[in-house]
Amino acid sequence: MKSNLIGYIKRKSLLYKTAVEYGDYTINHIQGCSHGCIYPCYAMLMARRFGKVATYEEWLRPKIVENAVELLTKEIPRHKTKIKFVHFCFSTDPFMYGYKEIEELSVKLIKMLNEAHIKCTALTKGCLPVELARLSDDNEFGITLVSLDEKFREKNEPFSASYKERIGCLYKLHKSGIKTWVSIEPYPTPNIIQQDFDDILNAISFVDKIIFGKMNYNAMVSKYAGYKEYFNLLSEKVINFCRKNNKIYHIKEGTITK
Ligand code: SF4
Repeated sequence: MKSNLIGYIKRKSLLYKTAVEYGDYTINHIQGCSHGCIYPCYAMLMARRFGKVATYEEWLRPKIVENAVELLTKEIPRHKTKIKFVHFCFSTDPFMYGYKEIEELSVKLIKMLNEAHIKCTALTKGCLPVELARLSDDNEFGITLVSLDEKFREKNEPFSASYKERIGCLYKLHKSGIKTWVSIEPYPTPNIIQQDFDDILNAISFVDKIIFGKMNYNAMVSKYAGYKEYFNLLSEKVINFCRKNNKIYHIKEGTITK
């Protein structure tokens, strides 16, 4: 059923190899993102640069790739032997908050890939649905979490799921035996928000993996005296926390500097 809240586009291809540092293959079956992050969102900057959307308001109105299932059916056999895993998504959010139709399509595409024995990972600022626990045990599902302060979220990730709901959905998957992770990125400096980093680590202490990265493309970061040392210190905290608690970690390129 087509919703009048979203638009539809057709694409010629779907699966592609990404150059993103922790990626392999990826899929972007939606254009735009209703979460409307203002850090700014790199995906929106790129979409504007390449003329896919003209304004922030247009970015907020997601468009579903209506031939996504058809494309994936053709592309899985073609790429299958080269794929280690498929990430959902680097240029949009696969579980946009309040968009059931997007959620259903994302689950369907993950299921198709799993049936071809391809592992999937996903990252969201929405709520991960519990149906994901019925798919392959190899999958890994994550949320982005850079604060626990709802005022910060309302200002910077205005239409995303609340932090409490986001963590709650992830915890349910963890309790169902699914591998979970958190991306603490793009992490802000104290002149953007004063907060206790340990509180964030403790709130997600159940996850299997943590990715940490500094905030980019925001002029406020370099205005914070000692921002390089600040990110070095937090990276070290993440590494120590993960080593102590037996978790996998990844510190994004450029976050630790000499
Ligand atoms: S959730 Fe991700 S893709 Fe969506 S607006 Fe925020 S940063 Fe951009």
